[in-house]
Amino acid sequence: MQSTSGSFYPEVQGAEGSPVARRSLELNTENERVRESHRRSFGAARPQDKLAAMDPHVVELVKDFRFEAAHYLPNVPEGHKCRRMHGHSFRGEIAVRGPIDAHTAWLIDFADLKRVIDPLVARLDHYLLNEIEGLANPTSEALAVWIWKQISPSLPLLVRVTIEETCTTRCSYFGERRAASRER
Ligand SMILES: [Zn+2]
Repeated sequence: MQSTSGSFYPEVQGAEGSPVARRSLELNTENERVRESHRRSFGAARPQDKLAAMDPHVVELVKDFRFEAAHYLPNVPEGHKCRRMHGHSFRGEIAVRGPIDAHTAWLIDFADLKRVIDPLVARLDHYLLNEIEGLANPTSEALAVWIWKQISPSLPLLVRVTIEETCTTRCSYFGERRAASRER
């Protein structure tokens, strides 16, 4: 179905053609557009990409994950909306970077990323984040760092953890070493 004309859903009938259903489809399309733009922008903006450009055998693998959770931010000013308990459909990414193995022709098995992130998602999904040890003030920033600390020991090639609270807001953490190198 084309999206270039004004009649985006010309054949939609009945309940599926209701304004709510149409808005939902439009939002899904918008979400995909934002995510694609996010993926593209990440590819070019970071210093490590210069290294990747110099070595054709260096690749980055990304694993997406999702979870639903409640949180509140206890340290924001009185009256700030985030001080009230509320929920998000969180989306996240973990990324690893390194050379392609000459024999397997991959960096690591995608299943290895899934094995690392799945147990963590189980600890977060449908919980109140503030009650999880280390997440008393669960901002996106704190959550990204917390996830990094949980998984980096078993993922030495980890280069990025990204957390999206909404489809238009996200936070990426690149680890202590990269943060320190930017300060120099
Ligand atoms: Zn929130």
